[in-house]
Amino acid sequence: MTDVFDVKNLVDSVSSLLKMGDKPIGLHQPSFRGNEWKYLKDCLDTGWVSSVGKYVDQFEQELAKFVGVKHAVAVVNGTAALHVCLLLSEVKANDEILVPALTFVATANAIKYCNAIPHFVDSDFKSLGVDPAKLGSYLESISDMRSDGCYNKKTGRRIRALLPVHTFGHPVDLEPLVEIAKRFKLILIEDAAESLGSLYKNHHTGTYGQVSATSFNGNKIMTTGGGGAVLTNDSSVAKLAKHMTTTAKLPHQWAFTHDRVGYNYRLPNINAALGCAQLEQLPHFIEQKRHLADAYRKTLSSIKGVQFFVEPEYARSNYWLNTLILNSSTFAERDLLLEAFHSKNIQARPAWQLMHTLSMYADCPRMDLTQAQQLELKIVNVPSSSFLRENDV
Ligand SMILES: *Cc1c(COP(=O)(O)O)cnc(C)c1O
Repeated sequence: MTDVFDVKNLVDSVSSLLKMGDKPIGLHQPSFRGNEWKYLKDCLDTGWVSSVGKYVDQFEQELAKFVGVKHAVAVVNGTAALHVCLLLSEVKANDEILVPALTFVATANAIKYCNAIPHFVDSDFKSLGVDPAKLGSYLESISDMRSDGCYNKKTGRRIRALLPVHTFGHPVDLEPLVEIAKRFKLILIEDAAESLGSLYKNHHTGTYGQVSATSFNGNKIMTTGGGGAVLTNDSSVAKLAKHMTTTAKLPHQWAFTHDRVGYNYRLPNINAALGCAQLEQLPHFIEQKRHLADAYRKTLSSIKGVQFFVEPEYARSNYWLNTLILNSSTFAERDLLLEAFHSKNIQARPAWQLMHTLSMYADCPRMDLTQAQQLELKIVNVPSSSFLRENDV
């Protein structure tokens, strides 16, 4: 191990960078230092805590404005947002959806909720997301283009959509993926759950897909407690998203008529109130997190056997989760380092176990996943809360 990288030196450097003494340090903790109390008190004082209230509309408008998209539809969590994105894309049972093997399980689960089939694709070391060149040549070899779209020659099933993930907040290389989606008649849906505020060539992630999903879970860059949103520039898609996520009730003063099987996916007003307060601080969170990332990059540059992951040149990342890439390539070495971090009360974590190795997804179609497999062995995420080096900003 020590000839690959110096565990003690690495853990000590991170520990002193975080100036933590022996205090336990979480992977990603929220920060509530704005108008949270004020807006929450307003909800309680007025009684508007649940499915109706002014903060939902306000949050949706301000979120859309921040991201630079025409419409944001707030929902109960990011997984629900992904589910709705897939339904809006008219994904049918047995359609295949191209999705990275290296992602959080929610991305694959949302596909399964539609009785569709995840088709796992490889990631690259440049973005930690879908490798566009590799995907392009793979589709070239397996696709059979028909009048109603792209079919998988091997399985005979339709490939309906491409669902890339902006891993740990770092934008995937979107332009070539947009091009691939066009060429193979795939709907592009972005899983921007981790990348709120991250820019790809000066445009926000979440604005390239026909629809995109984001999350405001407690560990994301900003939180509503639990929550998510569907982002789109298409007004009719936004309208349908709102309708579907609010039980598909037809507007009427007293009658209860529903015109489809809808979902109760709406974000409660009290969560939206928290969201309004957090959104006001989001530019500051991003600034603080970029500063923290820079401190990691500088500190780690002198340490043998490990690299700090830096945003691709086309991107301005929110650095949601700071990422170390180890030179070693065994689980044993990676886990020794994780043990060492945890014994110092530093909550580091590995990447997610790759989707195709989970029992429920073991039979899904997949391409060669060599790079994702290497990334799984080499990724270690380190504490990334926005306030960790607040005294320097
Ligand atoms: C957090 C996350 C989700 C799901 O969001 P929830 O709000 O937790 O349901 C989906 N995809 C990715 C990549 C995530 O990190």
